[in-house]
Amino acid sequence: MTRMRRKVIVVGGTAAGTSAAAAIARLSDDHDILLLEQGKYIAVGTCSLPEYIKGTIEDHQALIHHDGTSFQEKYGVIVRTSNQVTKITPLRRTITVHDLSQNVHYDEHYDFLILATGARPYRLNIPGCKSDNIFSLKSLESAIQLRSYIRQYEPRRALIVGAGTIGIIMAEAFQQMGMSVVLVEKTNQILNHLDLEIAERIRGYIPTQSIQIYQDSQINEYLSDASHCTGCRLEHMAEPIATDLVLETIGVEPTIDLARQAGLQVGNTGAIHVDQTMKTSQFNIYAAGDGIELTNLVTGKPGYYPRGSNANKSGRTAGENIAGRHTRFKGVLGTTLVQCFNLQIGMTGITEKEANRLDYHPLSIEITALSRVKGYPRAAPMFLKLIFSRNGRILGGQFFGTDGIKGATQTLALAIQHKASLSDLAYCDFGYHPSLSPAWDPLNIAARAGLRRLRS
Ligand SMILES: Cc1cc2nc3c(=O)[nH]c(=O)nc-3n(C[C@H](O)[C@H](O)[C@H](O)COP(=O)(O)OP(=O)(O)OC[C@H]3O[C@@H](n4cnc5c(N)ncnc54)[C@H](O)[C@@H]3O)c2cc1C
Repeated sequence: MTRMRRKVIVVGGTAAGTSAAAAIARLSDDHDILLLEQGKYIAVGTCSLPEYIKGTIEDHQALIHHDGTSFQEKYGVIVRTSNQVTKITPLRRTITVHDLSQNVHYDEHYDFLILATGARPYRLNIPGCKSDNIFSLKSLESAIQLRSYIRQYEPRRALIVGAGTIGIIMAEAFQQMGMSVVLVEKTNQILNHLDLEIAERIRGYIPTQSIQIYQDSQINEYLSDASHCTGCRLEHMAEPIATDLVLETIGVEPTIDLARQAGLQVGNTGAIHVDQTMKTSQFNIYAAGDGIELTNLVTGKPGYYPRGSNANKSGRTAGENIAGRHTRFKGVLGTTLVQCFNLQIGMTGITEKEANRLDYHPLSIEITALSRVKGYPRAAPMFLKLIFSRNGRILGGQFFGTDGIKGATQTLALAIQHKASLSDLAYCDFGYHPSLSPAWDPLNIAARAGLRRLRS
């Protein structure tokens, strides 16, 4: 008996879209898969864009894991780039597509649709914002534009708006490229996903001679000469700041135009609501990646966590469920790893400020412990902050140092996901070898300090 073939259309060809399409192709021979991407490229390693801009990755081709042809050869997925989906008609199970290269419109039928339309960068809408040397960084196309501008005009001064993880990473990149950098941040701290005092400590590692940071500062207008930005004016500051280049890194918003038009449920976060299988409010439409909201495993509440890690997992989950598996992606902890200014920075779970905002009445401890036994090569101080409830449940952790941060962050993420307490962590059987880890792992030490804090 021949089985009925199903047609799956995936909209968006970056992390989530390609993960979803590849998952279906791996598991099932019964699906015809069509992947539509409005841009020129698919399967781009977006997280490596800063290295490409710096030139440590010379050729942008190195960031493209597959082109349409190789993806089709490997997975049997038909790929059409420069094809933008403009409309979904759920009742007829069709989408309307604009082939941007031929400038023609056509309809396609689907049995299942996966929206992996991602997110787009927020941009400032202030006087002068249309200048030709104001950039954002999200896609490979945007990175190619920025890098070719830098190569052509060799700017000496850069202004970065927004001091989140990408703003900080790009500040370091521009500094390494020989530019002096001004970083303007609207809130009272850099790296807003961390607690204030941790962000302050990390700020101490940023070289002030080449990177000037203005916190609590908002840009009122860009100054421009013809169509070229020459500087900006900050609220509360009489003197303008001069620059040769502007990069706006003020966060991203989920791309939900198609979802809204199709009547899919959108959550209070502004992102598409999905269940644990990545199904939207329409039974045959799934969504994945930066366009969706995910449950925070500490709070149980939906949140917006645009990360490559989540895009891969949610994409694969959507694909596996369409292919007939029963895969659940239960939620996330906002886990984030960053490397900059010779520091590794990690966080997982919720911050103390978030825990306070949610009335958890949290407690916290901060310790510094060695990553390996003193005197051994690479042994270095690790800074750890643990946040916990008054019954000892671990709610979150923040870390920085030059060694061991990744392991501590990932381990704590697993502990939090399994609702571990300080007592669980204090005597957890972590391995010991002097050149790799001390007899008391820094997480053991932090948890013991937490227990003392609970008893005090
Ligand atoms: C500089 C930088 C560094 C980063 N570093 C990290 C990191 O270290 N770790 C981490 O976890 N995350 C990192 N991220 C975030 C990570 O890259 C994103 O979370 C991830 O790329 C999201 O993938 P996505 O497929 O959901 O969405 P996107 O990457 O936004 O892709 C969505 C795709 O859909 C296409 N599309 C949208 N609408 C349509 C339409 N109507 N028709 C056809 N196609 C459409 C878009 O053109 C786009 O290609 C970084 C991001 C940037 C910009």
